[in-house]
Amino acid sequence: FLDYAPAPESTSILNLRDEYRLFIGGEWVAGGGTPFASVSPSTERQIATFASADEGDVDAAVRAARTAFEQVWGPMSGRDRGKYLFRIARILQERARELAVAETVDNGKPIRETRDADVPLVAQWFFHCAGWADKLDHVGLGARPRPHGVAAQVIPWNFPLLMLAWKVAPALAAGNTVVLKPAETTPLTAMLFAEVCEQAGLPAGVVNLVTGAGETGAALVRHPGVDKVAFTGSTAVGREIAKAVAGTDKKLTLELGGKGANIVFDDAPLDQAIEGIVDGIFFNQGQVCCAGSRLLVQESVHDEVMDRLKERMATLRVGDPLDKNTDVGAINSSEQLERITRLVAQGAAEGGDVWSPACELPAEGYWFAPTVITGVEASSTVAREEIFGPVLSVLTFRTPDEAIAKANNTPYGLSAGIWSDKGSRVLAVADKLRAGVVWTNTFNKFDPASPFGGYKESGYGREGGVQGMQAYLKAGER
Ligand code: NAD
Repeated sequence: FLDYAPAPESTSILNLRDEYRLFIGGEWVAGGGTPFASVSPSTERQIATFASADEGDVDAAVRAARTAFEQVWGPMSGRDRGKYLFRIARILQERARELAVAETVDNGKPIRETRDADVPLVAQWFFHCAGWADKLDHVGLGARPRPHGVAAQVIPWNFPLLMLAWKVAPALAAGNTVVLKPAETTPLTAMLFAEVCEQAGLPAGVVNLVTGAGETGAALVRHPGVDKVAFTGSTAVGREIAKAVAGTDKKLTLELGGKGANIVFDDAPLDQAIEGIVDGIFFNQGQVCCAGSRLLVQESVHDEVMDRLKERMATLRVGDPLDKNTDVGAINSSEQLERITRLVAQGAAEGGDVWSPACELPAEGYWFAPTVITGVEASSTVAREEIFGPVLSVLTFRTPDEAIAKANNTPYGLSAGIWSDKGSRVLAVADKLRAGVVWTNTFNKFDPASPFGGYKESGYGREGGVQGMQAYLKAGER
């Protein structure tokens, strides 16, 4: 029994095409740009080729979305929109295993995560937003809330299908139509989502998907036919988009980078805290905007926490992401692997003590062992820059005030964690943290009913909750 090891998930469940086209106005159309390949980061093998949308394709997609908005989706009752969203949610559940395998193959993250976290959350998001649609027909005593129109949505590669769900589900529930651009290293599950829309009988043009690189995203964002822009990605690109949208009447929400502090006090429930620290930085190989990438540990428990953390890290299984026992999968791309490698070397050069457990990394693919850097100064690069990899930077503090000051000493403000048995301390510290999400005695908990978003350079606007719906509705206008 103890030796029982489930067989790796098989790719035979996938029924992929060799070549994916753009999904515009309910049709699969060839793109004007040069097609590109997506490779599996754990094997470096090509999965399929994807069309590249040029300016003309983006224009066609925005026009298709406009027509669908004006003729079908906008005039439709919320109750009917909700029916489509419920149908999509059910199909996503029916195809859950296939979607989990596809996401793991395309992104490199462990099947345990795509199967137990990504895909279930995707379905939850559609169910949640489906439930909003009919309520929006009669909210309040005054005018019915109105959608913006055509939403342009650009997403990153770290949670390809989940980020799509966070964007598409509320937009459609509120009555907008969408043109979405997935990230160029993870376009696969967006194409499968197009199939789900077809299966659900979603009217043509309500959801349009344009694959391509950053230029495709830029063409989409600046298109004059777009009413609302929603972006998740790096702070640098977020800035570009804010500039492109400035001076227009487009509404904008930005979900950007982070450098989350996970604060461990000396009275923390340590068993739980160690699990939370591990989850906070090694979930999805640390390629998570809200990762707990800075561990702030009270000096008196520093040595005990580090000993226990290293012991736990030595048990993490790194390797084939399709293996159900794998805890840490592949890094999404060679560029990302280079960035992580460079930043860790810099951390060492600036005086940090770099440690990883002994683990054999596969010969093919992009891999980085779980890593912890101790003795990190607040001014060091690894304490300030988002690494976006399985790398934890450890800093210490003596008093709660020092912990708060260090946690807030970053241009970002997306997430934080507090580990303490003392309720009054948790509340007092949480109140002073400038982070959009604060978890206490847990980490990485997501719910479609909870707003998620950043302070400072982590962006503005919220996804999830009432606030997330409001982002897709005109405020106080008829
Ligand atoms: P990225 O900014 O490089 O790319 C994100 C998307 O933007 C991709 O689809 C890309 O093709 C597109 N893009 C690139 N240049 C563009 C331009 N000029 N105009 C329009 N679109 C453009 O980010 P990434 O490397 O894919 O993702 C990692 C980043 O995303 C990290 O910084 C991470 O913190 C952030 N992120 C934030 C959240 C959040 O909710 N706050 C969630 C996930 C990821």
